[in-house]
Amino acid sequence: MTKNLTSPSKYDTARLQQLDRDHYFHPFTDHKALGEEGSRVITKAEGVYLEDSEGHRILDGMAGLWCVNVGYGRKELAEVAYQQMLELPYYNSFFKTAHPPAIELAKKLADLAPAHMNNVFFTGSGSESNDTVLRLTRHYWATKGQPDKNIIISRENAYHGSTVAGASLGGMKPMHKQGGLPIEGICHIQQPYWFGEGQDMSPEAFGIKAAQALDAKIQELGEDRVAAFIAEPFQGAGGVIIPPASYWPEIKKILAKYDILLVVDEVICGFGRTGEWFGSNYFDLQPDLMPIAKGLSSGYLPIGGVMISDRVMDVVNKGGDFNHGYTYSGHPAAAAVALANLEILENENIIQTVKEETGPYLQTRWAELGEHPLVGEARGVGMVGALELVKDKGTNARFDDKATAGALCRDFCFQNGLVMRATGDTMIISPPLVITRSEIDELIDKARLALDLTFEALH
Ligand code: PLP
Repeated sequence: MTKNLTSPSKYDTARLQQLDRDHYFHPFTDHKALGEEGSRVITKAEGVYLEDSEGHRILDGMAGLWCVNVGYGRKELAEVAYQQMLELPYYNSFFKTAHPPAIELAKKLADLAPAHMNNVFFTGSGSESNDTVLRLTRHYWATKGQPDKNIIISRENAYHGSTVAGASLGGMKPMHKQGGLPIEGICHIQQPYWFGEGQDMSPEAFGIKAAQALDAKIQELGEDRVAAFIAEPFQGAGGVIIPPASYWPEIKKILAKYDILLVVDEVICGFGRTGEWFGSNYFDLQPDLMPIAKGLSSGYLPIGGVMISDRVMDVVNKGGDFNHGYTYSGHPAAAAVALANLEILENENIIQTVKEETGPYLQTRWAELGEHPLVGEARGVGMVGALELVKDKGTNARFDDKATAGALCRDFCFQNGLVMRATGDTMIISPPLVITRSEIDELIDKARLALDLTFEALH
């Protein structure tokens, strides 16, 4: 890893790692492994680069957790937070109160979202947004006099967050195994994962088949029991699974036959990831509800929300109190930072640049990695990409022990100064949207080196 010799580290890594082992229970972490290896302590960041407690410089190919869209080190966002904290550090929006930052942010989001979405409910995260989705869809149908229309259909291997409702809506088996999930009233259909599940047919035919699972499930349950269908435009945490081109048009046809809400989870796609403001713009979807978070503030402060269509809002407006809310719904400092973040995305033409320049460049260079002997498929859209690691490039056969190749490759990336994530044997990138062409070249070179080293280690 490259050492940044201009700034010798002021941190005592061994001490931090020991305190971390002793006291810090991490999310999504194997603590036995953490105890043996110690954690990586990230101490600062600038642009697309992280620095760790030992002074190593690392290209962040994941934008944190898919969120630092405008890149690190934006002093203007820190300044906005500081000024807002001096002016009004906290107030809530329960019981008919409000404050300017949340009001201005709501207006801005209404301007940016698809034309039929003009309201937002603020939350603190993507998971909270999906808890809100669960309650709001059921409240909607109950207000319309159909309280039994309360089942939400989701997809296997979807990710919708980590709270009880979020993890239940998600389709991750290891999450369901812990805590008796999913909760009642949520079911899952097949995912549109052609490489993983559909190679015995063409991507187009498989896309139609996966979509038709929705029709079959609605018929099985009865239209009068189904409240909503929830989906990510492309599955992010599941492995950057981009549905075949036939999938979304077929889903739209099916939804048009039934009176069911469409919830498009934009927590990753929202705010430019595909080169459009929302994945719904990219895939031409008309959601009734749209959970958002992450890129909304580029992760600088925690904030999320649910964008609400006029159709839903007209009904819930008649339903009296929606008995739901979070202490930090529309937090003033987070809202002010989110608004300033959206202005940066607009004023610097960041999303347009992803669409027209850096996104196509990343995709061209990423596709070159598809030639590597360890890679069965390279796919991507806008500013995300995935590589499927395979044992046999001719047949696309996977390794027997799924996750070893992925974990090896991820570790080689990190040793060589790149954060790339592994979901089993699928390697994933989602860099800050501001990444430049030369930084993309560096990312590709480092990814290729890690693939070479992984290949050598496995053969
Ligand atoms: N929905 C999607 C599509 C996500 O990818 C995530 C997080 O990765 C979430 C919801 C949950 O968001 P959070 O971690 O902010 O609760």
